[in-house]
Amino acid sequence: MTTKPASRFFIETFGCQMNVNDSEKVAGLLLADGYERAATAADADFVFINTCAVREKAAEKLFHSLGRLKRLKAAKPELVIGVGGCVAQLQGTGILERAPYVDVLVGTHNAARVPELVRRARAGFSGCVDLDRKADSFRVPDAAVAHTSAVRAYVTAIEGCNHVCSFCVVPRTRGPEQCRPADEIVREVRSLVNRGYPEVMLLGQTVNAYRHAGVGFADLLRRVHDVPGLQRLRFTTSHPEHVSAGMADAFRDLPKLCPYLHLPVQSGSDRVLESMRRGYDRAGYTDTVALLRGRVPDLALSSDIIVGYPGETESDFQATADLVEEIAFDSLFVFLYSPRPGTTALRLADDVPDEEKLRRFRVLNDAQQERQGRRNAALVGRRMEVLVDTVRDAGRVSGRTRHFQIVHLDGDAGLLGRTLEAEIVGAGPNALRGRAAAEVSLTGAVAL
Ligand code: SAM
Repeated sequence: MTTKPASRFFIETFGCQMNVNDSEKVAGLLLADGYERAATAADADFVFINTCAVREKAAEKLFHSLGRLKRLKAAKPELVIGVGGCVAQLQGTGILERAPYVDVLVGTHNAARVPELVRRARAGFSGCVDLDRKADSFRVPDAAVAHTSAVRAYVTAIEGCNHVCSFCVVPRTRGPEQCRPADEIVREVRSLVNRGYPEVMLLGQTVNAYRHAGVGFADLLRRVHDVPGLQRLRFTTSHPEHVSAGMADAFRDLPKLCPYLHLPVQSGSDRVLESMRRGYDRAGYTDTVALLRGRVPDLALSSDIIVGYPGETESDFQATADLVEEIAFDSLFVFLYSPRPGTTALRLADDVPDEEKLRRFRVLNDAQQERQGRRNAALVGRRMEVLVDTVRDAGRVSGRTRHFQIVHLDGDAGLLGRTLEAEIVGAGPNALRGRAAAEVSLTGAVAL
């Protein structure tokens, strides 16, 4: 008797860590349903594209991928194509009009229904669509999440966003905030640690707005931190308005909480910040940074900036460049403003020409690269704690320091998940090169 080979799936993910985590949930559910992973879309029976709508370019990536899948499906008509995530939520069945060969469409709250909808599509049913935003996003059982990394596990703490930033499509695609009960989060972290994960990253669009049944964000951090065996704790993304003294204290007091914070500022101009409806001004942001650095002087800070926001003048831009210089971020993500459907900024003229947006992008980026290059060069000769998280090709691995810098090392898969003390022997603006000097155990460093 020959057994029928298992069906195979392939997932393409665009966007942020939350999208990666959603894809991990879909993958886990498919694996539990008897599917196997395919190495490429061409080898798969089901291809799922998890989309990002935050900028127009990201959203358009869906249709580039669909163009390729259309050709695959012409050669293999039984191929099932699914689309999920923010673009699916935003454009809904409009996607089916533009790409009628898409079989399954799910919104941001319906990952749990993917296996069932694929089954229906394979049985020949049409209309395998679920865009219901009232569905419970946390329905996917923890054990079903197929984490991409064997070292850093993403754990959702909050879904959605209650902010009203003028430029941002996320509240429309992911809906209002829903916090997950702290007990569930802690239970998931405990189970991950028992399965060997040394590091956990708590996720949410504005994760530090967390509040559930009287448990605030700082309390949540303390509870997760206390899970025995956890080595490193991180979280992202934070909103400056929700940085509290309690959160700053947590950075100072909790040794497993890594001293790195991504804190998007978006602009250094009060006029632009007000139009963006960010809820703070420049002084508010610098006070927040002072609060944090008062507790942890070497806290690594990264940020997001949007250049070319409607009406952004040269002096607004200079205010941003000055702020970036003043704070001296450890890393920076600069984006060109992109008008998004349903946002309030859409009513404003997108009046900064593309070439000027690009020039502002380059000014900030070049200065940042220069700063990072200088800072990293000063680390040569130092010893840093590195948790190895990636196996690269040809006898090389890489990992992250507690401050989230990337360090490349010689080594093989045997080092994955191990914490090393590395001597820094080289540096570029975006990564360091190290030599493993000792292994760090929970009780201290031992020679390798
Ligand atoms: N809610 C998270 C936050 O506040 O960081 C994630 C938002 S988004 C995934 C990440 C970054 O994309 C934002 O911080 C912002 O800098 C940028 N962004 C959002 N909307 C944008 C737009 N319309 N045009 C350009 N960049 C945008």
